[in-house]
Amino acid sequence: MTSNNPGPVPASGTQTRRKFLKLSAGAVAGGLVVERTYHYCTESKVKAKIVIVGGGAAGVTMSAYLSKLLRHVDITVIEPSEIHYYQPGYTLIAADVFTPGDIAKPTKDLIPSPVKWLKDSVIELNPDGNSLVTSANGRVAYDFLVLVPGCQMDFNLVEGLSRETLGEGNVHSIYDFKGAALCRDAIKQLAVTKQGRLLFTNTYTKIKCGGAPKKICLLTEDYLRQRKLRQYFDITYLANQNELMKPKVYGDRLLEIFRERAIPIKYKHRLVAVDTAAKKAAFEVLPEPTGNPIALDAPHERLVLDYDFLHVVPPMSAPDFVKNSAVAVPIDKVNQGGWVKVDKETLVHAKFKNIIALGDVAGIPTSKTGAAIRKQAPIAAANLVSLMEGRAPALKYNGYSACPVITQYGKVLMCEFGYDDKLMPTIPFLDPAVEREMWWMLKVHGLKPLYYQGMLKGRV
Ligand SMILES: Cc1cc2nc3c(=O)[nH]c(=O)nc-3n(C[C@H](O)[C@H](O)[C@H](O)COP(=O)(O)OP(=O)(O)OC[C@H]3O[C@@H](n4cnc5c(N)ncnc54)[C@H](O)[C@@H]3O)c2cc1C
Repeated sequence: MTSNNPGPVPASGTQTRRKFLKLSAGAVAGGLVVERTYHYCTESKVKAKIVIVGGGAAGVTMSAYLSKLLRHVDITVIEPSEIHYYQPGYTLIAADVFTPGDIAKPTKDLIPSPVKWLKDSVIELNPDGNSLVTSANGRVAYDFLVLVPGCQMDFNLVEGLSRETLGEGNVHSIYDFKGAALCRDAIKQLAVTKQGRLLFTNTYTKIKCGGAPKKICLLTEDYLRQRKLRQYFDITYLANQNELMKPKVYGDRLLEIFRERAIPIKYKHRLVAVDTAAKKAAFEVLPEPTGNPIALDAPHERLVLDYDFLHVVPPMSAPDFVKNSAVAVPIDKVNQGGWVKVDKETLVHAKFKNIIALGDVAGIPTSKTGAAIRKQAPIAAANLVSLMEGRAPALKYNGYSACPVITQYGKVLMCEFGYDDKLMPTIPFLDPAVEREMWWMLKVHGLKPLYYQGMLKGRV
């Protein structure tokens, strides 16, 4: 059930208009169901043992597509968590629009029945020997491997931070399920304290949903503004990068919105330490010229800011067992992620042709989102079957990703793009640089059912 207290709603929305927009959101979601990238309809009789590492968004979606494509299903998903989380809902938990229960479902209910679930964690990959090692079941052999273990949240790379202590010293992060609810409570508490210095940070690594740090900043600002408390708060956004967002058309509009809402932006500020007892945050101020990511040993000066509320984005990387294996992009001063080295179009590993990776762990130059996985999975599944049949992978992923940036309660800037920052709007005749109520309706009412009933079931 969605929360009974969905926060402020747009003042202009009449019941009829909202009903219409809700229906439109459903229609767009329905349209997305019809608009399939997946045309590989022939069932294959090929036999092989497939292991899927990770039962998150990409893992469940791949198991759904592959179990439809293969007559002889021998697929094992290795996933340690009994609960599967719809992560795009974390922002809406913090906004008090969704409840935590809306977005947490048992893993066993989502993995399709012919697929086996091994409740375990992978600790080592041996791609030369077509096997891996798990913490409880030891060695597991495979013929083909689908690597989808997502991102590792490296909170501990910021001194004084840890995932377990989120909430302490009013430090929050929506990049964690429990953290999102704590963040919601802290935002509500601001309406009680009625003053404060609020800092919202971004980090230096590639992250999942690059829009999320902006969303939580703008939502909090809107929450206070709608309660006529905005003037009592100093709100600052601090980013490691030197721009808000790519492609430029979205970045420019977001910049205007931050200006309109009087939220100063400090670029090239990397959060390096937090003192939760003293409520102080330390940043390294990065030198010119800059790129993203920036070498960690670049010269810098330090800035220490007092805060009353701090929202952090942890540095992210591939899980350690990926980083420490031969499947990863080698780590150097600039490439610190250790993401899986795959071809950006076929999603097949550059060296190990029986390995495919997609989702957050894939080392490809696009934004890490569930929307990207919706497009990647049918291509990756069809290409895997081609490899199993001894054919070359034929389908190509164009880098499509989407980030619905919530700019206020009731409005979303729908950012859709592909490789090389190419704009790829679902509705091409709409101005992409305009935040709209219909996208909010889609985000709140359309995308979750699309995820559970469409994507995870291999239907879109
Ligand atoms: C705050 C936030 C907001 C977001 N907003 C949006 C949005 O608006 N739109 C959008 O499209 N996307 C959004 N996303 C991004 C989206 O949720 C992710 O891109 C997507 O979930 C990634 O899927 P994945 O399968 O690659 O990784 P995950 O869904 O994270 O799944 C990885 C799985 O691998 C498992 N795993 C990890 N290590 C191991 C191991 N050693 N052995 C076995 N299994 C392992 C994990 O337990 C996990 O279940 C958001 C994410 C966050 C956090």
